[in-house]
Amino acid sequence: MKQSTKDVIVIGGGQSALAVGYYLRKTNLDYVILDQQKRTGGNWLHYWESLRLFSPAQWSSLPGILMPGGSDYYPSRDDTIRYLEAYETRYQLPIERSVTVETVRQREGKFVLATSRGEYRSRAIISATGSFQKPYIPPFPGQANFQGSTIHSADYRTSEPFQDKRVLVVGEGNSGAQILAEVSQVAQATTWVTLNEPQFLPDDVTGRDLFDYASATYQARKQGKTYTPPSLGNIVMVPSVRQARQRGVYQAVRPFAEFTSLGVRWSDGREETVDAVIFCTGFHPALDHLNSLGIVESNGKVATQGTKAEKIDGLWLVGYGSWTGFASATLIGVGRSAKQTASEVSAYLNNGLRY
Ligand code: FAD
Repeated sequence: MKQSTKDVIVIGGGQSALAVGYYLRKTNLDYVILDQQKRTGGNWLHYWESLRLFSPAQWSSLPGILMPGGSDYYPSRDDTIRYLEAYETRYQLPIERSVTVETVRQREGKFVLATSRGEYRSRAIISATGSFQKPYIPPFPGQANFQGSTIHSADYRTSEPFQDKRVLVVGEGNSGAQILAEVSQVAQATTWVTLNEPQFLPDDVTGRDLFDYASATYQARKQGKTYTPPSLGNIVMVPSVRQARQRGVYQAVRPFAEFTSLGVRWSDGREETVDAVIFCTGFHPALDHLNSLGIVESNGKVATQGTKAEKIDGLWLVGYGSWTGFASATLIGVGRSAKQTASEVSAYLNNGLRY
């Protein structure tokens, strides 16, 4: 069993951890990044094959090197994995792979991490395990009786298993729209089930614009001003979504009342036979490893001030979305949180400062 003591341990090895590593290498701190996967790419390794980023390449970069492709190219899943591999190599980030952090505890002023490769110790922890690993499926009555197949978007890879099937796609976000675009080309029939009427962004609004709006809101808030971003929906019109819209596949209906053994029953009592349901209904943050510290709240999050945990010294959380920094669950947005975090951790360990 291996044992190691570091100034800082970063838990997770996706883009958020790499961005944190980029800034930690500029400090005098001894650190390591522990990732449970065998190879680079974080959760991008598990997204579906045809996924296109909603953010054009030019606005999909971590601090340092630019994602290739420019302002009109929407990178694919594999472009993104290649970019992260190049990033890790270029900055020679100290990553140990195939290491799962199971629990984190505090002992004698240090953090003690129980991992699949033995115990590690550190003076500070940066958790960067992502928000897209624990799939959420809303409860529907009768689901246990349904004889068709149900999957979450986290397990969707290609449209092939849905060839000639009657498919429901549940969920109104970018995942739902992109997966429906693909499945509708091979399925016998598709129905889009959404809680609310899906909102499509205008064709000329890109992920870059979204980031600009988020940045303007962030700057205004910092200066104590109010900024109301333009009213926008949330589905970015990447090429596959535009084509699907032209094919007329985006007719959304409100959720069914319950599953039946052969399909679903709608709220007007009508029954419909369905072969498969794809839930594109979101995720919960992957924070199980922090349960042992007693700071994960009932909403699955940790109380934070910026990225610093409020209830415990020496712990930061990066990349989990707006509760850990503006746009921090995006490639371009996580850099700002990572920079601030590295500087806080450095001050904390070098000067014993409390935040
Ligand atoms: P992850 O990529 O999830 O990486 C976390 C890493 O931590 C993983 O390698 C995981 O195995 C590891 N880990 C977890 N728990 C442990 C543990 N206990 N011990 C050790 N290791 C652990 N963002 C954009 O900027 N543009 C886009 O177009 C875009 N499209 C998206 C499309 C979809 C469908 C989704 C779901 C997200 C999209 N995002 C996009 C958001 C975001 O950029 C990605 O989800 C990204 O993968 C988040 O990076 P991360 O490093 O925070 O987390």
